[in-house]
Amino acid sequence: KDEVNIIQGALELRSKTVQEVMTPIDDCFMVDISSYLDFETIRGIMQTGYTRIPVYDRERSNIVSILFVKDLAFVDPDDCMALRTVCKFYQHPLNFVFNDITLDKLLDEFKTGTFHMAIVHRVNSEGPGDPFYEIIGIITMEDVIEEIIKAE
Ligand code: ATP
Ligand code: ATP
Repeated sequence: KDEVNIIQGALELRSKTVQEVMTPIDDCFMVDISSYLDFETIRGIMQTGYTRIPVYDRERSNIVSILFVKDLAFVDPDDCMALRTVCKFYQHPLNFVFNDITLDKLLDEFKTGTFHMAIVHRVNSEGPGDPFYEIIGIITMEDVIEEIIKAE
């Protein structure tokens, strides 16, 4: 029964972590902040179908901003505007969550917050140096909802 599955899925949010259902950073469609919004770049973004595009600086693990596709509404491809300029204009906040929090906690944040995508980071203490925060993925409301409705 669908209802039973949904309740089951909702209950399982307490035992699943963000890391288990996030989209890993290597699978994310992102853009480099030093790119220019020419026709090709805008088309590339549009073609993905994603609404929210993380923006990185130099390395993909260094997410510095987020571009909403609707931000492109006033961008004329002939102007070849710098993405950096658009990001500075909108300054959408970045929201971070840790990899090991459970999905019920994340859902609470999505419900109270004004955001529906979070950047997933973890504490990396594997190397010889000081521990550091490492970005490993993104997660959206959709990922949580999928866990609720697909559960067997
Ligand atoms: P919306 O449905 O609000 O328009 P969307 O379709 O862009 O947004 P979501 O529905 O939030 O994206 O998420 C669908 C799936 O795509 C999720 O698994 C999410 O992690 C993933 N996702 C979202 N944005 C990106 C992106 N820029 N690159 C790769 N995967 C993404
Ligand atoms: P994000 O929080 O990721 O920026 P968003 O703000 O673009 O997403 P949604 O998350 O899709 O928008 O929706 C947020 C709330 O606003 C929802 O309750 C949705 O029903 C409502 N909403 C979205 N678009 C409209 C609209 N055109 N008119 C009225 N309500 C809307």
